[in-house]
Order: sequence, then C-alpha cells, then structure tokens
Amino acid sequence: MDEYPLPRACHLDAEIMRIFQGAGLSDQIQQLVEPSRGMEFVDSAGERLFTYEDFERSPILGWFEDYVFQQPQLDRVLREGLERFPGVELFLGSEVTDLDSVDAQFVVACDGASSSTRRNLGIGLADWGFDQYWLVVDLMLDGDAGLPSLIQQVCDVGRPATYVPSAHGHHRWEFQLMDGESHEEYEDHRRVRELLRPWLPEDVGEIVRATAYRFHAVVAESWRDGRFFLAGDAAHQMPPFIGQGMCSGIRDAANLAWKLKSVLQYAAPEELLESYEMERRSHVERCIAMSIEAGRIVSGQVAEFPAPDANEAERWSRLPPLTEGVFSSGPDDRIGHQARQPMVLANGSPVLLDDVGGSDWYLLSRVPHQTGNWCETVLVDDLVDLDGGLGLLLAGQAAVLIRPDRYVFGTADEHSIGELVAAAERLIFGGGC
Ligand SMILES: Cc1cc2nc3c(=O)[nH]c(=O)nc-3n(C[C@H](O)[C@H](O)[C@H](O)COP(=O)(O)OP(=O)(O)OC[C@H]3O[C@@H](n4cnc5c(N)ncnc54)[C@H](O)[C@@H]3O)c2cc1C
Repeated sequence: MDEYPLPRACHLDAEIMRIFQGAGLSDQIQQLVEPSRGMEFVDSAGERLFTYEDFERSPILGWFEDYVFQQPQLDRVLREGLERFPGVELFLGSEVTDLDSVDAQFVVACDGASSSTRRNLGIGLADWGFDQYWLVVDLMLDGDAGLPSLIQQVCDVGRPATYVPSAHGHHRWEFQLMDGESHEEYEDHRRVRELLRPWLPEDVGEIVRATAYRFHAVVAESWRDGRFFLAGDAAHQMPPFIGQGMCSGIRDAANLAWKLKSVLQYAAPEELLESYEMERRSHVERCIAMSIEAGRIVSGQVAEFPAPDANEAERWSRLPPLTEGVFSSGPDDRIGHQARQPMVLANGSPVLLDDVGGSDWYLLSRVPHQTGNWCETVLVDDLVDLDGGLGLLLAGQAAVLIRPDRYVFGTADEHSIGELVAAAERLIFGGGC
C-alpha cells in the first residue's frame, strides 16, 4: 500500500529535524526539505502588516528554525526507515477494531482526529471553541512565477487566507469559506483559479487538490487509560496557522518513546509514564492558543497586532518550554528548554553533539563522572568546539544533563554533578514526579 498521495502538513521545525536526526534519518530527510524563510501577516494587497520576528537567527538546535516539505515524500522515508528494525512489523491496510485483542504491554494509539481508540475508551474531547471551514489548495509549479518567498497570512476580512511556498514546486493556499459558501462550489477548478488570481494572474501550474477542512481546536480529556496512550491528533487537534499539529504529534512520540524504553529496558517504574501527559499537555495547549491567536488575527478578530518578539540569543523559536515533569529543580532558566546543539569535532570528524551523546540521556561534562547504563557521559575535553556553541551550552557550568528528547534536565557546577545525576535517577527510577 502506497503512502497517502496528497500533501497535508508542509511545515516542520528544528526540534522535529533533531528528532529525525536521533532516528538516524536526517540525511535522507534533508534531501527533501527546504529551509523556510519565515512568515509575515499581510493585508489584502500583500503589504506587510507585521511579523512576529523581524530578525534572522542562526541555527541553535543544529537545524534551521523552520522547513517546508511535501508530506508523501517524508512519509516514505519514515516508513522505509522502519525496515532497519527487525522487531518492527508494519500492517498496512489493517484496522484495529477490538482493543482487548491487541496483545501488547503498552499501546500508543496514533489513530488520528476521529480516533476509535479514544472513543472506545470513552475519553471525551474538550472543545476550545474555534470552528471554521477552510478550502485547502495544493498546486505544483515549476519556477517561482513571482510568488512570495515568505509564508503569508492574509488578514483580509473578506477572504482570510494563507499562502505557503512549500518545497520542490509545491505551493499551498488555504482560504476561509465564508458564510453561505459551500466547498462543492470549488470542485470546479475555475472557481479555485479565481481565488488564486491575486497570486497567479495566469493559469500556470497544476492544481492537485482543492478540499475543505474543518479547522478546530480540541484536546482529549485524558491521554492515558491503563496500557493505552493517545498521541498526535488522537490526543489534540489545532488549526494549522502555525504548522504545529504534526510537529506536536512527533513531540508526543519523542517524549513517550524514551519513557517507555526506560520502563521496558531499564526497569523504571510505570509511574514515570504519568509524566507524558503532564509534560506534553501544557505544551500542546500553548501551541493551540498560539494557533488560535494567529487564526483570529487573520480573520480580523483582534483589535491590535502583537509587537514583534524580543531577540533573545538562546530562544530557538516562539514555542514554549516544558514547565513541569522530569526536570531538576535547579535555578538555571534553560531547564525545560531544548538544549543547544553545537557542531563539534569528535574523533577527528565534525558532527552534531547529539550524535556523540547517543540515543539515551547524556551528561556533557568538564570532569569525568560515572553514570548508569541509562546515561552516556560526554567529556568536553574529548571535543573541539567548532561554532562556539559548546561554550554557550555549558554557559560557565561544569555539566549539562540532557534528556533523550533533548530537553535540558539541569546543569551543575563541578561540586554538584553527582547531585544532578542522582536527582534524575530519583525521578526516573524512584517512582516518577
Ligand atoms: C490543511 C492542513 C495543513 C496542515 N499543515 C500542517 C503543517 O504544516 N505542519 C504540521 O505540523 N501540521 C500540520 N497539519 C496537521 C497535521 O496534518 C496533523 O496534525 C497530523 O497529520 C496528525 O497526524 P496523526 O498521525 O496524529 O494522525 P493522522 O495523520 O490522521 O493518521 C492517523 C492514522 O491512523 C490510521 N487509523 C485510524 N484508525 C485506525 C484503526 N482503528 N486501526 C488502524 N489504523 C487506524 C489512519 O488510517 C491514519 O493512517 C495540517 C493539517 C491540515 C488539515
């Protein structure tokens, strides 16, 4: 069975590229993504009204802040990547109809917005009260035809719209369907061409899809019931104005994966798994709030545009940090943020730091320290800092403890490294948070 052929998600961010790096797939995925040049809010004539960020940041996590891509190509690489694992079997075209018949210690249900797992477990959805119908148009076009190079959010109360210059000739438009309009009207692509006129005066390129989607915001009331976990759209859905729906699902997977591994491979108690929802829910809810804010701006429902964000050197994106969970209680304000990922020279080769740290926890340390098999120690003296990022990551401390999903657990001076590692061990192996 082939991948679903039409593009849906077309934006991902640096944290997601870093997760793909951890999965050993970033070389292939780099071939099919293109860095995005950013996003601006414009009026109906295409004139800029404001942007959240009016500065260019150099990559902090080892990857550009944003990328565009065509989803079927990404799906293929991810699917083929599974072939590396003899213990993984893929059942394409199969449907889970009876939860009791699933023979597994844990089940992660990533079965989408209308998740039958969620329904069968009797888990309800909290509705955030955002509900709009939009027409999503995908067009393939060689050359740029003079189209904008930035993602545009068109704040036109008569026809709110989004334009995304995606990768390798893919262009995405989204148009709000106004009162009294039905999506059937747009089955005739001549009507779609009328909507595209402000961008494409000539009928160039091929429209590969014009479909209506309901943009809404809901969160499952609980993300776990016994051995069943919900992840991705099964747990939360948001309007796509900041391109974070799929990214949030991938973050769920990265968060839950290391915790399941800790339980199954390193004999951590199951209480650790409670931190999955604790950590991810508040992050997702903040992303939903940001998406809704962007949607309201585009639809002309806000009185004032927000001021651009401050240019903070350590901030890799507008997304929030994780606020509670498996973290040290230390005072460093980087705790709960994605760790910087510098380029270093290790064993004579230039590599990104995570590739030295491995797939579990790693302690980047100026002094040797013995940890259990759940954590790798990376000695600063064994590395050459190629871009100054190693010094910025340590920020005057002797050690930084980084989780498998690359969030900063905590930092320590040379006298408190043992305490830092012991605090992590207590949270992982001593009964959760
Ligand atoms: C127009 C639009 C643009 C978007 N753009 C972006 C973007 O740029 N960036 C971004 O991050 N997100 C974006 N999103 C959101 C993103 O598409 C979704 O969040 C993402 O696809 C959800 O992935 P998922 O794997 O959780 O669910 P899905 O993609 O819905 O996958 C669920 C899978 O489970 C299978 N399934 C369902 N029930 C069963 C069952 N009983 N047994 C077996 N299998 C089952 C389905 O067949 C399907 O394959 C966009 C969404 C829309 C609508």
